[in-house]
Amino acid sequence: MEERGSPDGDLARSLEQGPEGPETPIQVVLRVRPMSAAELRRGQQSVLHCSGTRTLQVSPPGRGPELAFRFGAVLDAARTQEDVFRACGVRRLGELALRGFSCTVFTFGQTGSGKTYTLTGPPPQGEGVPVPPSLAGIMQRTFAWLLDRVQHLGAPVTLRASYLEIYNEQVRDLLSLGSPRPLPVRWNKTQGFYVERLRVVEFRSLEALMELLQIGLSRRRSSAHTLNQASSRSHALLTLYISHQTAQQMPPVDPGAPPVGGKLCFVDLAGSEKVAATGSRGELMLEANSINRSLLALGHCISLLLDPQRKQSHIPFRDSKLTKLLADSLGGRGVTLMVACVSPSAQCLPETLSTLRYASRAQRVTTRPQAPKSAVAKQPQHLETEMLQLQEENRRLQFQLDQMDSKASGLSGARVAWAQRNLYGMLQEFMLENERLRKEKSQLQNSQDLARNEQRILAQQVHALERRLLSASYRHQQGPGLTPPCPCLMAPAPPCHALPPVYSCPCCYICPLCRVPLAHWACLPRERHLPQVLDPEASGGRPPSARPPPWAPPCSPGSAKCPRERSHSDWTQTRVLAEMLMEEEVVPSAPPMPVRPPKTSPGLRGGAGVPNLAQRLEALRDQIGSSLRRGRSQPPCSEGARSPGQVLSPR
Ligand code: ADP
Ligand code: MG
Repeated sequence: MEERGSPDGDLARSLEQGPEGPETPIQVVLRVRPMSAAELRRGQQSVLHCSGTRTLQVSPPGRGPELAFRFGAVLDAARTQEDVFRACGVRRLGELALRGFSCTVFTFGQTGSGKTYTLTGPPPQGEGVPVPPSLAGIMQRTFAWLLDRVQHLGAPVTLRASYLEIYNEQVRDLLSLGSPRPLPVRWNKTQGFYVERLRVVEFRSLEALMELLQIGLSRRRSSAHTLNQASSRSHALLTLYISHQTAQQMPPVDPGAPPVGGKLCFVDLAGSEKVAATGSRGELMLEANSINRSLLALGHCISLLLDPQRKQSHIPFRDSKLTKLLADSLGGRGVTLMVACVSPSAQCLPETLSTLRYASRAQRVTTRPQAPKSAVAKQPQHLETEMLQLQEENRRLQFQLDQMDSKASGLSGARVAWAQRNLYGMLQEFMLENERLRKEKSQLQNSQDLARNEQRILAQQVHALERRLLSASYRHQQGPGLTPPCPCLMAPAPPCHALPPVYSCPCCYICPLCRVPLAHWACLPRERHLPQVLDPEASGGRPPSARPPPWAPPCSPGSAKCPRERSHSDWTQTRVLAEMLMEEEVVPSAPPMPVRPPKTSPGLRGGAGVPNLAQRLEALRDQIGSSLRRGRSQPPCSEGARSPGQVLSPR
């Protein structure tokens, strides 16, 4: 539970109405340092007395009435560093920074009043010697609290830090990899003033952050003078950047600008000093003058910010680097805590009164805290708007392109697209159809080749059977041991003669082997083969059409059934048989290749494609079988009792 009237409670109530809520005053906490040993030695007295937790009374020795100043909290010399940390409400600022607010803690007061001590503890006793934990200042304690808080957040948070000093009106990077060089201070609409190219270092542990702090402290300018043996000669700003994943993904608006997200900035101001009192000379005097100028500019801005008409007034934040970098904390959207430090010594009373007046006025300065996360939240909306604009532009350009196309081709954009789509579809269909036809053609070719092979095999088989048939007929007529009249009966037929068409002469019979019409067996090649046919006596003087073929069974002269006595039609059947046997042209039906070939013998596979040859082969086999049977059971003379037509039906 927040203590009523404490800085934490006031700040919480101020911010309850939200980041866009009412103006929120700068919170001011007063810390009074103890009398130093030197002051006590000089017999100086304390003129400051605390009344309660929020009021300070000033008792000028011997002159004037007591003065009272009221602050958010007043911490006297007896309060420890831990008391200050708890009372000043810096944890509340840390919470606000985690929510995306820009928060600032700055110390203010005379040189030697304890500003640096309050923020970072006593000066290090040696290089690498850490500050004792009990004396650790607000910064170290806040660091420890923040790291612990982030660990328990349960959401990924990126922590980074930068550390700079303003020395003689120049911004120097205390974390730079090389020697610090002056950096420019820029301004943009979303982030206000910022230091360009400032090194921002990501850290993941308290130790890493403490190391960054020590590096910066060791590089910061300090000098000894009468009032302070380790007097800061520059204003120092250490900033913690707290980025959640969503904010982290957003790039900074300007290159070189700090990250977007919550901020917690610690400002250790150099103290105002009277050059006469500090005895500064030379470079120290120049530093003192520079410090005083910037503090004067700060005081001037605070005075103007207190003006009721300030909205119409110009606030001269640009008068110094310090006021530029504190502009947001003083009059902008930040949440600010001032720790005013004073010395209790009567010797420092004028500066103490000045500080108290400044601090009193500062706590009347208000800001309008606004979380940068709201700016981050605007990013998706901004991106969405941009996307819609791009889509609209895309549509417009597409429309223009369509119009240009239609002008070129005389078609509207939609029709062009339709035609392109259809042409493309047609092309695809043609390609598919072409491929299909190619396959079909290949199948037909295969089928044709197969049929031709089978036809050749069948023809050979028919040829062999036929020779057997002729041989058997001849032997049956002449008796065994006689040489057949034609060598082609016993041997494969020679390359055939140039033959006339089979039926060119209706009265001719055809040699079943060489397809020579029997009436023309007198041709020269056949003369050698069949001399008996050429013998006019052997032909009996009959016309060629009446002569039987040479394989016709012989018969006894005078026999009624002698083949030579038979009519023309008797031999026609045999001629038809021979014709059938030698008919070569078989046109396959060229069906698609079957998935599985029919179960036929290898020699007759695909015989269905040549049914005529298969039938003829079968008929020949029957005829040969019956001829052989007949030859065994009947005398040669009575063989002619059965005509070939009784064995083989004409086609
Ligand atoms: P400033 O930064 O305001 O110039 P410093 O923080 O350097 O002053 O303090 C000046 C001296 O006073 C230092 O030696 C510091 O240790 C001492 N001092 C300041 N505040 C306290 C305090 N609260 N308790 C003990 N010593 C202090
Ligand atoms: Mg200091």
